[in-house]
Amino acid sequence: MKILKFGGTSVGSADNMRRVADIIKNIEGKAIVVLSAMSGTTNSLVNICKLLSEGEQKLALEQVSLLEKKYTHTVNELLNLKNNISEAKQILKEEFTLLKELCNTFTSHNNNTNNIVIRGEFITCRIFQLFIQESNISSNLIHALDFIRTDKDGHPDYFYIKEKTNAIVNAHPADNLFITQGYACINAYGEISNLGRGGSDFTATILGSVLNAEIVEIWTDIDGLHNNDPRFVNDTYPICELSYEEAEELAYFGAKILHPTCIKPVKSENVPVVLKNTFNPEAKGTLIHNSSEKEGIKALAAKDNIIAINIKSGGMMMAYGFLRKIFAVFEDFKCSVDMITTSEIAVSVTIEDHPQLENILKELRRLGDIRVFKNQSIICLVGAFSHDSKGTIARISQSMNETSLRMISYGASENNICLLIDSENKVDALNQINKQLFSTNNNCA
Ligand code: ASP
Ligand code: MG
Repeated sequence: MKILKFGGTSVGSADNMRRVADIIKNIEGKAIVVLSAMSGTTNSLVNICKLLSEGEQKLALEQVSLLEKKYTHTVNELLNLKNNISEAKQILKEEFTLLKELCNTFTSHNNNTNNIVIRGEFITCRIFQLFIQESNISSNLIHALDFIRTDKDGHPDYFYIKEKTNAIVNAHPADNLFITQGYACINAYGEISNLGRGGSDFTATILGSVLNAEIVEIWTDIDGLHNNDPRFVNDTYPICELSYEEAEELAYFGAKILHPTCIKPVKSENVPVVLKNTFNPEAKGTLIHNSSEKEGIKALAAKDNIIAINIKSGGMMMAYGFLRKIFAVFEDFKCSVDMITTSEIAVSVTIEDHPQLENILKELRRLGDIRVFKNQSIICLVGAFSHDSKGTIARISQSMNETSLRMISYGASENNICLLIDSENKVDALNQINKQLFSTNNNCA
């Protein structure tokens, strides 16, 4: 079994859907294809919910009509056979009647938001299935809400998902190709929910894990994970191979192409993931697997909206339990800490900007003098840095000659070195590091 996930741009227009069909028709053996909503749809749906919660029902319904137009246009471009076009129009009618109904019955107390934001995946899958049927590719559309469930903590309920997914696949032994909606799930109480923005990647890797798939292919619009952020730096190149840990760090620290937690399910089951480009299927992409590859820096990512907090206290001197008190504050506010450095009398930590920041600071002030630095960015360098690989820090600090560093974190894992800088220096720093630490030779060659 293979899992293939296609992101929003991959299914973002009739032409792009044709490319996806070309990729799918060459699959050998069994596969589940996970689709995102056509690009822009989920953003619109989130915006529609926002308008509804502000009482702007008319504006919300106008947005729904725009979406309906976009899908109607796609259907007209995509399908050729008269019967299929009228079937697609019937599907759109049903889907948009439901969406309008959800808008009309929206109250601040009901769960319509969760119902609304996942509709894009459902519409896209139905239209796409009809289209590939026209191209003589037969498939079975299976409903994510029948088998993707989260537990009381919002984590995937693997036991349930495994049982349900296997039951569904085994009930159709003659079918080779299944299609399903990414992102959507039910929660522990059976209510409609979702796996968070970008969650279709997560759907794919959860399925890969419970079905012990041969591979999970994540198809997007770029040739794999790049060594640096292509939005800010020229001359970046796709990385050939990454270990699960390296990919996890990059996804968490801002590499936009992967959902931050989607590596976890495949890592424990040792299922490889490959990141591929729908618009350049020949490109090798990035393979994420259980590799222990060569030493050195492979890639970096940057995360913005970081706040650094420095806590200084005489009471910390030769004392124990002080760090526990500090972390208890963050735990109480369910706030996760990314970086930490300590000296004998002071601790610095970083957090993402947090709605309860003022209350967190109030509690921390009880423990010592605090200083707060806003508008910070973490640059996370990822690679294989064993303790005896020499000169790594020297090379990094040399490349940062022109940038003030607020914090460095080295040694927590052998895969990650984090630097904290003022966000206004980020683009410069990314470019400097690129120039000094990466060769422009693509390491896949
Ligand atoms: N459509 C959802 C989003 O835009 C899920 C996804 O694309 O992965 O966040
Ligand atoms: Mg995505």
